Parts: sequence; C-alpha cells; structure tokens
Amino acid sequence: MTELHETRQEIWLSASCGRQIAEHLFLRLPYEACGVLRGKATAGGMRIDTFVPMRNVAPDPLHRFILHPEDWTRECLRGKDLVGLFHSHPHSLPVPSEEDLRQLPLFGGMLTAYLIGSPGKTEGIIQLNGYSILKGTDGGFSLQACNVRHD
Ligand SMILES: [Zn+2]
Repeated sequence: MTELHETRQEIWLSASCGRQIAEHLFLRLPYEACGVLRGKATAGGMRIDTFVPMRNVAPDPLHRFILHPEDWTRECLRGKDLVGLFHSHPHSLPVPSEEDLRQLPLFGGMLTAYLIGSPGKTEGIIQLNGYSILKGTDGGFSLQACNVRHD
C-alpha cells in the first residue's frame, strides 16, 4: 500500500495569471524574468490571481535576478495581498538554486509563495514549480515543494 508521507500545500493559479507568467517568461528570454504575485491564503495553501512583472536589474540577468527597487517598493506599498515571488530559469530546471536560497531572507519575512518557471519542451508552454517559504526556529528560511494547480 502506498502511504502519503506529507500533505503538500497547494498553490492555485488563476488561468490569466498562469498565462501572464508564461508570456513574461518568453518575452524576457534569454534573460531571467521576475515579478511578484498577489492573492490570498486559503485552507491548505494559497490562491494567486495576479502576476505583476518586474524589471530584472541584475548585472548578469542571464543567470540571476534582482527586482528593480522602484517596482518592488511600489508593489509593497500597494496593499496586503502581496503573497509571492516568481522568477524564471531560462536555461535550467525550475528548482531553487544556491543563489535563490541565499536570497530567501530578502523576501522570506513578507512572502509565502515562491514560483520558478522554465521553458517547457512544447513551444509556449512553461514548466512551473511552486514552493512555500518556511521560517525555521533558527530564524532562517527554507523552501518546501507545493502542488501547483490551475483553473
Ligand atoms: Zn533561481
């Protein structure tokens, strides 16, 4: 018998939000794309209905991302439904890199959802992984895989 060892949290993405994320990812190729996610917590996870693309001002945007400070500040001031971060891995799988984990403390205090996208094998389709940002007892942050669902 198969046993379920953990109940994964669910990240629900609205159809329009999923489309906008994919469009932004392809528009920014070959560079990393980034932006923030608005939505709300639900029982068992969170629901994301808005994607806000942001400028990537990393000196090496092929391999990293830094949110434009103006874009970031504007969204932080806009309301309480800021729940997550998205960025892309144009040349690798959508799994957190060491650099991503190093950057977590920058966002961990305010955001709970963390999405990474990569171009899929089929044109126009992306591979999207979702994580929740967890705060440890030592004050550090980590990522736990979630199920990403679309409607
Ligand atoms: Zn990354």
